[in-house]
Amino acid sequence: MQRSSLLFPVLLFASFLHGQYADVRTGLLWETPTRHVMVMGDGGPLTIWVDGKQVAELGSSDGLVLKYEESGIRARSLLLDLTAKKTITFRSPVGKGFRLRNMAPKSAERSYPGSLELSRAGGNLRMVATVPLEEYVAGVVQAEAGKGHWMEYYKLQAVSCRTYALANKRRHAGEGFEVCDATHCQVFHGRNRQDSIRQAVALTRDLVVVDSDIRLIHATFHSNCGGETMNAEDVWSKSEPYLISTLDTFCLHEPHASWTKSVPRSQWLSYLRKEHGVNTEDTQVVASVTQYAPECRDLFLANISPQVSLTRLRRDLHLRSAYFSVHPEGDMVVLNGRGFGHGVGLCQEGAMHMARGGYSYTDILHHYFTNVHMVKLQNLDFFRDDGL
Ligand SMILES: [Zn+2]
Ligand SMILES: [Zn+2]
Repeated sequence: MQRSSLLFPVLLFASFLHGQYADVRTGLLWETPTRHVMVMGDGGPLTIWVDGKQVAELGSSDGLVLKYEESGIRARSLLLDLTAKKTITFRSPVGKGFRLRNMAPKSAERSYPGSLELSRAGGNLRMVATVPLEEYVAGVVQAEAGKGHWMEYYKLQAVSCRTYALANKRRHAGEGFEVCDATHCQVFHGRNRQDSIRQAVALTRDLVVVDSDIRLIHATFHSNCGGETMNAEDVWSKSEPYLISTLDTFCLHEPHASWTKSVPRSQWLSYLRKEHGVNTEDTQVVASVTQYAPECRDLFLANISPQVSLTRLRRDLHLRSAYFSVHPEGDMVVLNGRGFGHGVGLCQEGAMHMARGGYSYTDILHHYFTNVHMVKLQNLDFFRDDGL
């Protein structure tokens, strides 16, 4: 934080760059491709643009049904009958938005801030909403974090979601938008309705998290670290200077702090033999892999050769985490595990516990991410010359 606060006054000059960060182009209904939707105004009328030309207005109580056709997009309401060869765009007055309903499969109507553009792609309608960044962030926090959290937790979510959106602007470049509205990127189901989230977003307005080289961080998270987070390179092959293992006592009594799983001893040994080449004829080796109690997170099971990667083991056996002990019980082995998830970056249950205990969102960020700073996004380009 020191570096950014020292430089901050100078950087106000760079705020004219804000334009390029102002909106997020979001691909809507990305997981449920459709050829048939209904569009309505939300709080005001919409102007309709067909193939780049303004042609009509959609009254706020009127619904326009749009269908994919081989020759274009057909749009009809009680009063209108339009066909677009390429695109049909709906623009809303500033601060308003539109409502969208998927007609096939039929689903609940959603309300979005910003404007909407429809075109055809891959045999379906492609719907891209251009949403003001801060409203996008609020919508994502509502969809991802849900209700009932402390203000500092919502602020933490807001800076993480904002950082993610800006770091991933090229994720769907080939599809004509920046981020999708599903878990592939960040879940976005439209306008946020919660006051506490609106407040958290406003209080962290424009703030993003960067590493010591002023690169936007990948704010990865998991449910519960079990008491110790992991280095990025120990789970994925790439290291990041801010994703460093750290001890965490905040999550130890949270809902996903521990787990237990029993595996037949024969199955455990045959898995280790077949998949990892462990010599299960050797009684000493068998003793080590059936009676194993690490004092902190290990990368490999017991002290045996060949080494057995615990992250691989977690994946193969669908374990909640790669942090566990093993002991024999009759013809079973019992795995007593800690935490839930990959263990890299932010521990969500620990973060919620910290927020509840009065820590600020910046304390929480610095606890889980090493040497990170918070900067105003308008100032990002001033710090570096490599662009996003
Ligand atoms: Zn995506
Ligand atoms: Zn934790």
